[in-house]
Amino acid sequence: MNTKFRTRTFWILASALCIAIAAAATIAVLRWQAEDARKNQLTLSLLRIEVHHSEYLAWRVVTETTVTATDSEELSGGRREIARLLAQLPKSGPGIDRQRLTELIWQHNTAIDEEFALMAAGRVADAVGQRKAETTRAFEVLDEAVTEAGRTTSALAERSIRTADLGSALVAILAIVLLAELLRQFDKTRRSMERAEAERAAIEISEERFRSLVQNSSDVTMVLRPNGRIEYVSPSAVHVLGLPSADLAERLVFELAHPEDAEQIAAWLAECSDAPGDTQLTEFRFRDDGAGWRYVEAVGKYQLEEAPVEGIVANVRNITERKRSEAELAAQHAELRARNAELTALQEVSEVASHSTSMDELLKQVLVKIAEIGMLGRCRVGGVLMVEGERLRLASYVGSPSSEFLRAHENLHIGECLCGVVAQTGKILISTNCNNDGRHTIRYSGMPSHGHVIVPLRVMDRVVGVIYFYLPADTEIDERMQHTLLAIGEQVGTAIENMRLYERTKELSLHDPLTGLANRRLMQIALQENFARARRLGRQFSIIMMDLDFFKNYNDRYGHGAGDMLLAEIAKLVLREVREIDLVVRFGGEEFVVILPEAKVSDAVEVAERIRNRVVAADFFHAEDLPPSHITISLGVASYGEGVSNEEELIAMADQAMYAAKRFGRNRVEVYPA
Ligand code: GH3
Ligand code: MG
Ligand code: MG
Repeated sequence: MNTKFRTRTFWILASALCIAIAAAATIAVLRWQAEDARKNQLTLSLLRIEVHHSEYLAWRVVTETTVTATDSEELSGGRREIARLLAQLPKSGPGIDRQRLTELIWQHNTAIDEEFALMAAGRVADAVGQRKAETTRAFEVLDEAVTEAGRTTSALAERSIRTADLGSALVAILAIVLLAELLRQFDKTRRSMERAEAERAAIEISEERFRSLVQNSSDVTMVLRPNGRIEYVSPSAVHVLGLPSADLAERLVFELAHPEDAEQIAAWLAECSDAPGDTQLTEFRFRDDGAGWRYVEAVGKYQLEEAPVEGIVANVRNITERKRSEAELAAQHAELRARNAELTALQEVSEVASHSTSMDELLKQVLVKIAEIGMLGRCRVGGVLMVEGERLRLASYVGSPSSEFLRAHENLHIGECLCGVVAQTGKILISTNCNNDGRHTIRYSGMPSHGHVIVPLRVMDRVVGVIYFYLPADTEIDERMQHTLLAIGEQVGTAIENMRLYERTKELSLHDPLTGLANRRLMQIALQENFARARRLGRQFSIIMMDLDFFKNYNDRYGHGAGDMLLAEIAKLVLREVREIDLVVRFGGEEFVVILPEAKVSDAVEVAERIRNRVVAADFFHAEDLPPSHITISLGVASYGEGVSNEEELIAMADQAMYAAKRFGRNRVEVYPA
């Protein structure tokens, strides 16, 4: 029972007791009063009877006209009784005045005595007179006084009883109210006690749970001093740290942690001590019973206020698994990054290869890109050697090789030196230092000490070239990088093959297949270029139009096959007679055009004459059983100048000059205007 309830109960009972005592006393007084009044009422009633009896005796004496001794005795007895009753009455009280009653009784007695004396004296008439005059009046006054006193006393008794009854009823109600309050208080206390009991049970469960949690928790709670001394360790240490808490208490955390982490732990303890109430996080390695290390995460807080745990309260958790996962993840991440870098390199090399429009550009761009993306570190010297028959030709390079180098690599054979080996085997080759590698057979003055990585450029099983890069001496290239380089090599090999096909196709579409000369489409392009240059820069250029004389006859005589061969030989002859920058075109069946940039009319005429002479001088034998044919050609020359507005016009001019040559007898050169 709690104190509050006890206090309340005490006050309720005390009040109830006081009220009950007061009420009982009051009721007792009232009851005593009523009792007293009833007793007085009874005494007064008896008194009234005795008075009436005296009066009756007095009447009887008068009526019988004689006084007997019995009457006197009876009267005396009555008077004694009256005196006794009077003595029982209180001197005064509500409606009672004993003094007055005594006086009135005395007057009545005196009147009766006088009446009796008269009767005894035989004076009956006087006695009757006395009766009428004194005795009856005294009796009436006395009777009135006694009756009044009886009435008042009776009223008082009734009132007292009523009041006492009312009081009893009130006390009963009050008792019920108090009892109800007492019951209410009791119920309230009972409920509060039940609640307290439930709370206590909950606390017990919670404590039990907490104890279990502390013992089996995945965290360890420690209390540390700022110098690192462990003051308390929760029992879960045995699961979390692999050491029973008894082995940890009173030891310095530094003794149990990895030596490399000591500095970090000291910093963490200092942080906790410097900012009480703030949480500080750290990670370190903790020795377990197997002499291994467990990674732990510690969240510490310096508790100043709470005296029982004053110190650094640390929550320590085993994060070894997490660390392992993180390390695995980091490794996977690095692997992915490396893979991504390789794929990016592959993709970038592939991109530059696919955007190149010529073989030279392709090789250069590939070298530049590999050097640029830094997949081989800072290496900037490299080149591509293309397989041509039994030899390797240096087709492209980066890093300005020395003239000694270029000379040394002019005539490199397959199988020779490192690049030749790669071209032969089709396998990647890594040489860490050329000076120590017996396979590095080429030597030249000023050769730096360097390593190599040489990658075959392959298309299916065929090696079309090799790509090499110089590396700083003793550089290692891991297997992954070798795979990437091989993939790049295959990609570049395929790109080279495609470029070759492309160039051949382009060549075919702009050249005549029989003679290998430019066709009319290429002529058109060349003419446009020459026109543009002539207009923009005011340069001169000329063209020669030529046609075989009587070629029809040749065909007829030797056949079309021989005619074709003749055409091919004429083409070679013309090519030999012109400059590199001149373009020889097969214009039609046996008609050719030569475009001569930067050539005046006279220069073109000179070339035309030379060709004509060479044709005349040449021997064209195409059928042994037939006599040799005498071949001639007619040529027309036209030059770009004022008034020439387009290519067709210039061609038409040369054509006109050529027909003029035919007209003037063939085997001659004419100049427009002829
Ligand atoms: P000329 O030019 O001197 O007037 O006499 P021509 O006999 O050469 O006459 P023309 O130029 O008109 O004849 C062209 C002949 O060239 C006709 C055709 O048989 C022959 N020809 C044209 N293209 C080819 C070809 O590709 N191969 C061969 N074999 N003959 C061709
Ligand atoms: Mg012709
Ligand atoms: Mg002809």
